[in-house]
Amino acid sequence: MTKSSDGNLVSSVTLKSGSTVACGKVVNASGPRALATAQMAGISLPVEPRKRYTFIFDAADRLDRDLPLTVDPSGIHVRSEGKYYMAGCPPDDDPAVDYDDFGFDHSLWENKVWPAVANRIPQFERVKVINEWVGHYAYNTLDQNAILGCHGKVANFIFMNGFSGHGLQQSPAIGRGIAELIAYGEYRSLDLTPFDYQRIESQRTIIEQAII
Ligand SMILES: Cc1cc2nc3c(=O)[nH]c(=O)nc-3n(C[C@H](O)[C@H](O)[C@H](O)COP(=O)(O)OP(=O)(O)OC[C@H]3O[C@@H](n4cnc5c(N)ncnc54)[C@H](O)[C@@H]3O)c2cc1C
Repeated sequence: MTKSSDGNLVSSVTLKSGSTVACGKVVNASGPRALATAQMAGISLPVEPRKRYTFIFDAADRLDRDLPLTVDPSGIHVRSEGKYYMAGCPPDDDPAVDYDDFGFDHSLWENKVWPAVANRIPQFERVKVINEWVGHYAYNTLDQNAILGCHGKVANFIFMNGFSGHGLQQSPAIGRGIAELIAYGEYRSLDLTPFDYQRIESQRTIIEQAII
């Protein structure tokens, strides 16, 4: 990114292809790589990639009804996934990882996830993992909530970051809100100002109790 001479605007973005795009506004929607993108404009952001593991399993003794999203106090969650079930968890230690680190810890199922779900739901004593993967949360280390709106100094740099594992469900509202911010300079449908980037600078947190 190149900035205006006073440093208050991003004036252009250079793509991987080498071509340059002049910009009126820049929206940082780069998920777990949000910090790397912000740094291109000289901006800091408390967002880091953290691993979250997902396991799809079949149960010999199926439940007689769908299982809604169920969160165990250990932090493991489990729910129906079509004819199977899906469980997920963070690792015990939960550091920031490299952007390209998708290494899988296979011991988590045996040592952590299966004991917890079988303890909570006895039918899950006899299960078989049929798929598993690891993904990155865009983890907001301040308060695990979205960071939105314009930067105070680099005025045309807009944040849509730090969703910390619940961005999909918020995306319709946030997409509309940011579109309004770009088109009208303000939110019109929903007031998203509590999530402004300014709260990062003033360390004002928005804490939710039931984050997974
Ligand atoms: C295992 C797991 C389970 C989840 N479960 C849920 C759930 O149940 N409910 C829920 O609401 N959310 C869930 N989430 C979170 C949800 O997936 C994210 O919050 C959501 O995808 C964030 O959307 P985004 O568009 O901000 O970022 P992303 O979907 O991560 O998209 C960012 C995009 O930016 C691109 N990008 C990055 N850097 C650059 C660059 N320099 N130039 C160009 N492109 C770039 C990336 O390639 C990517 O396509 C889960 C996440 C994980 C990992």
